[in-house]
Amino acid sequence: SVSRHSSQSRLFSTSSRCRTIMPAWVIDKYGSNDVLRFTKNASFPVINYPNEVIVKVVAAGLNPLDVSMRGGYGAATLSMKRDPLNITQSGSEFPLILGRDVSGVIMECGLDVKYFSERDEVWAAIPPWKQGSFAEFVVLSANEVSHKPKSLSHTEAAAIPYVATTAWSALVNTGGLSKDNCAKKRILILGGSGGVGTFAIQMLKAWGAHVTVTCSQNAEQFVRALGTDHVVDYTAGPVEEPLSTLEKFDLILDNVGGGTERWALNLLKPWSGAKYVTLVTPFLQNTDRLGIADGMMQTAATVATKALKHLAKGVHYRWGFFAPSGPALDEIREMVDAGQIRAVVEETFSFSQVPQALEKVEKGHARGKTVVEIS
Ligand code: NDP
Repeated sequence: SVSRHSSQSRLFSTSSRCRTIMPAWVIDKYGSNDVLRFTKNASFPVINYPNEVIVKVVAAGLNPLDVSMRGGYGAATLSMKRDPLNITQSGSEFPLILGRDVSGVIMECGLDVKYFSERDEVWAAIPPWKQGSFAEFVVLSANEVSHKPKSLSHTEAAAIPYVATTAWSALVNTGGLSKDNCAKKRILILGGSGGVGTFAIQMLKAWGAHVTVTCSQNAEQFVRALGTDHVVDYTAGPVEEPLSTLEKFDLILDNVGGGTERWALNLLKPWSGAKYVTLVTPFLQNTDRLGIADGMMQTAATVATKALKHLAKGVHYRWGFFAPSGPALDEIREMVDAGQIRAVVEETFSFSQVPQALEKVEKGHARGKTVVEIS
């Protein structure tokens, strides 16, 4: 097979097509679930760059971000990313298609795409500024896409990419962890029972780390079955009390946020390179509220102040972010096909039930992932 960096080139696209519309769930304005509209006339995705592929969506995974974006979260920042020169008018993102996770089949490849061919089974996490997977087709850059694990169904595969690439970005790129340096490390995951948590537990256990997790009491068996070594119930009282009696940690992944920052950094081993990485950041709120320029300034000032404050105590403070990455998904596929990581699908819905699926995610208390079966 051809590697991602192969120089083999193809002169022509592998197929031509004449469709211009497709079925999709869209929103025409931001709001609650009643803004969702099913249409058979959504625009069929177009390959605009030679490195793009069109994927026929078989299954679409949901994330809390879909609910937030439905309500307008990130709108200012994402519009800027879609239209950097601000040529079009505000509201030009509509009709907007939500859905960040896809598992499906390549239907068409741009002229420069070498690593994929038509009919390849693939999975991907779709960047929030692109049209999503609650549709029959989606267009993506080849570097965002990866061959799907053979051991998983499309429904299972659609439960992994967004949370996995987020956990990868936070733990590997920001946290500095790798399969070779986890063996003696103690890791704390705040919020282990949701999408990011259930993936991160399995990845860290596969890499040999010691994993402590906070979750509700009724999720204890669930997170233990994924390999968690030690569980602390956050519903039994202030969780920082039992946590502070434990041996200190090398890294904390925070999926909860809110008040956690006030005490979590005290649980790290000082002066040893230990890091606190939080996924709950005010980045998009700042730019939504203050505009791009002032929002970025506010964000940089906040994170720099916090990082310096904690560095003075000998621990590192970091913000983690989702980063689309086909190459990370290639590595995750190997772990999945080796049986080290499984998909944790809590509930599935049909294409006609996208509103019900979003409602389920909006209620919270996830135990793994919610997936919509599209075709
Ligand atoms: P989920 O909704 O899948 O999971 C959240 C989980 O946390 C639920 O299982 C919930 O169960 C549990 N929980 C809630 N409150 C607490 C608490 N105080 N302590 C411990 N557990 C708690 O979310 P995801 O895993 O997909 O995402 C986690 C967070 O990360 C979200 O805030 C999300 O917005 C953020 N995120 C940020 C990204 C970024 O780029 N910065 C990317 C992806 C996610 P229960 O309430 O029953 O205990």
